[in-house]
Amino acid sequence: MSISSTRPELSIDRLRDAVNGSVIGPDDPDYDAMRSVMYGGIDPRPAVIVRVADAADIAAVIDVARGTGLPLAVRSGGHSGAGHSTVDDGIVLDVRDLDDLDIDPIARTAWAGSGVTAAQYTAAAAAHKLATGFGDTGSVGLGGIVTGGGVGYLARKHGLTIDDLLAAEIVTADGQLHRVDAEHEPDLFWAIRGAGANFGVVTRSKFGLHELDGVVGGILVLPATAETVAGFIAAAEAAPEELSTIANVMPCPPMPFVAEEHHGTLVNMAMVAYAGSAEDGQAALAPFRALAEPLADMVRPIPYPEMFPPEDPDYHPTAVAQTMFLDRVDGATAQEIMRFLTESDASMRVSQLRVLGGAAARVPDDATAYAHRDSKIMVNLAAFYEGEEDKARRQAWVDRFAAAIQQDDTGEYVNFVGDEGEAGVRAAYPGPTYDRLAAIKAQYDPENLFRVNHNIPPVS
Ligand SMILES: Cc1cc2nc3c(=O)[nH]c(=O)nc-3n(C[C@H](O)[C@H](O)[C@H](O)COP(=O)(O)OP(=O)(O)OC[C@H]3O[C@@H](n4cnc5c(N)ncnc54)[C@H](O)[C@@H]3O)c2cc1C
Repeated sequence: MSISSTRPELSIDRLRDAVNGSVIGPDDPDYDAMRSVMYGGIDPRPAVIVRVADAADIAAVIDVARGTGLPLAVRSGGHSGAGHSTVDDGIVLDVRDLDDLDIDPIARTAWAGSGVTAAQYTAAAAAHKLATGFGDTGSVGLGGIVTGGGVGYLARKHGLTIDDLLAAEIVTADGQLHRVDAEHEPDLFWAIRGAGANFGVVTRSKFGLHELDGVVGGILVLPATAETVAGFIAAAEAAPEELSTIANVMPCPPMPFVAEEHHGTLVNMAMVAYAGSAEDGQAALAPFRALAEPLADMVRPIPYPEMFPPEDPDYHPTAVAQTMFLDRVDGATAQEIMRFLTESDASMRVSQLRVLGGAAARVPDDATAYAHRDSKIMVNLAAFYEGEEDKARRQAWVDRFAAAIQQDDTGEYVNFVGDEGEAGVRAAYPGPTYDRLAAIKAQYDPENLFRVNHNIPPVS
């Protein structure tokens, strides 16, 4: 396949000779399994998938991408909602085999390959009573979450994942491997902490680890009314930084630990984690439990890895979503949230609300390429759809929902931005952040080789 007569065609055989890793083409039996990503409805057919084994493989793949002109997508855990870890008729550079994990419990640091998942890292670190914060889902790949930010159960106590990033190794568009940190190529180190997909392929990252001997955590299911939703957010804002909460206002799934009569009714299925002593954790959770008689209360002292239960690898939901930030969830906003969720009949619809602040908010806005340190509440609106016609309907609902509750904060967290074109990129990287990224892009990727992402074209 070639995109112009002057470019060499892609040769899968030559690529096989050039790399140590495995090369999967459309004729290979595992092609369909290898090209699948987490979300259903994202179904491109790449010309080739290369599971790289090392930095030299990455350089070889980059060389082929530049030579052939084929688009290049980089894939780690495959959770991109925008579909950026795969590409039609292009090259998928898959880092899942870069899965070395080297924990130094004395120094409290870890080097982790970009193919390691959040759950794998968390389990290995917990064996030393240590942790680095990632998100709420264990199967997310470090390659994607780290280069975008990382907002999870330890964000209020210890900051985002990128706030624990001490150094990284990255292969840039010229095929060179760079080790970057605060002293070495600080501009590139700044850029990859929030916009990493634009700058190369991170092979491995060095993280700081925090002492953590379990959490008080789990699922707390409360009946959802405007009062309990607003009350939950107020309690989360007032809570100590040890407590991170994720409120999922949604129809109650048919979970065995919730009485059947509540299945399908609107509930707040909250995920909570208190990173401190059991006694203090129970005290911190008392205001939440007092909001209403819980429909289920699974919150208890647990090893931290239990916050990341095993997932079904064959689960590929089709969903539309919109991410945004809110300044507050007052009574009026909570009523709108309830109104939209009541109005929809999507099989799954959710307003996910995460109160931010704490350590993540104490990092200056310009310290990393994630520039939403003052944002108060991260919100993800989503609905499942079945088929293209339904998709348009559900997307219209999500759009109306977002417009109805939008307040002054117009930013968006890149790791949840869907296929929103330049508007999404601008929302993720406001003003000065965008300008600085575009200048650094010109230095490290002047031809925009890494463009299958929330793209920042190089400044000309
Ligand atoms: C169910 C679910 C729950 C989530 N929960 C959270 C959460 O709680 N907190 C949070 O912060 N985020 C969360 N996310 C968002 C998630 O962090 C992003 O989607 C992240 O980018 C996924 O990383 P990945 O490696 O799995 O995905 P991929 O699709 O493989 O990659 C995502 C992006 O990163 C790029 N990329 C991947 N590897 C590399 C690399 N080695 N070098 C450079 N670029 C790379 C890809 O090209 C792509 O643009 C969630 C997503 C899902 C689907």
